[in-house]
Amino acid sequence: MRVRFWGTRGSIPVGLTVADVRDKLAAALLAASGRRFASFAEAHAFASRDLPFSLSHTYGGHTSCVELDTGSDEYFVCDMGSGARPFGEHVLARQAGRKATVNIFMSHVHWDHIMGFPFFGPAYVPGTHLRIHGCHDILEQAFRLQQSPPCFPVNFDQLGATIEFVKLRPGEASEVSGVRVTPLLQRHSGDSYGYRFEHGGASVIYSTDSEHKLEDRAETDRFVAFFRGADLVIFDAMYSLAEAISVKADWGHSSNVIGVELCQMAGVRHLVLFHHEPANQDAAIESLLKDARRLEELTRGPQPLVVSAAHDGLEIDL
Ligand SMILES: [Zn+2]
Ligand SMILES: [Zn+2]
Repeated sequence: MRVRFWGTRGSIPVGLTVADVRDKLAAALLAASGRRFASFAEAHAFASRDLPFSLSHTYGGHTSCVELDTGSDEYFVCDMGSGARPFGEHVLARQAGRKATVNIFMSHVHWDHIMGFPFFGPAYVPGTHLRIHGCHDILEQAFRLQQSPPCFPVNFDQLGATIEFVKLRPGEASEVSGVRVTPLLQRHSGDSYGYRFEHGGASVIYSTDSEHKLEDRAETDRFVAFFRGADLVIFDAMYSLAEAISVKADWGHSSNVIGVELCQMAGVRHLVLFHHEPANQDAAIESLLKDARRLEELTRGPQPLVVSAAHDGLEIDL
């Protein structure tokens, strides 16, 4: 299974500003002073390998959209944030005129998780089959609402695709086109659901927009059981621990530190920090990643935990 991240930012899309690009460029020139590059390839290798990720790259700006590529003809994707627009382009290019079937799994219907749907190209193509899975009763209503006047020019009923809404029940496993899917209720305003996906011996957890109170032992046990032995956990790490337990307590999100602790308790192999705070610059996200890696090293048990920070365009093979 290959996991592709099309949108990794929380709450609202962000883009690099003029000042961001200029400052990165100036810092990169400084880091390269005294060096000579004989070719573009040499300069490219320096930028890729020797500069910090936060300087030569960006964590990206689209809101939540993560594809699970199982190698089958059907598509599997979590959430329809603004990353659904480039994901839709990818689907149309790969299908090259053939009709697509896309299985969508919705954590919840806050705007940052549905805003990409009106820009999801395959929804406009007759013959496309979209199955939108979720546990909320208001799932269909939310999709229709954001495409109602005066908010959007194309009404939901005008979309060319055949669109089906499939209700899942938290705690109950279902088989969706060869993938085993289990949702879990999470602590978030209006409720959100995490998903455990199992296919071909690999397991992936998608758990965003989820606040954890580790002092609630029963809830912690529930999540540890849900994460147990997973190859990959995509985790809401919007805040630092200090923010998550003070000013931003009860805002419905979690932190890098809680992610490490839960994944260690559950024997997870790889933790990916996700749903980045829109106010955080690339350097701030990199610093949250470094803190999480340092904590993992200090508290490492028998099995190491790989920790990464998601960026738009990241691909992980399982
Ligand atoms: Zn969100
Ligand atoms: Zn939310």
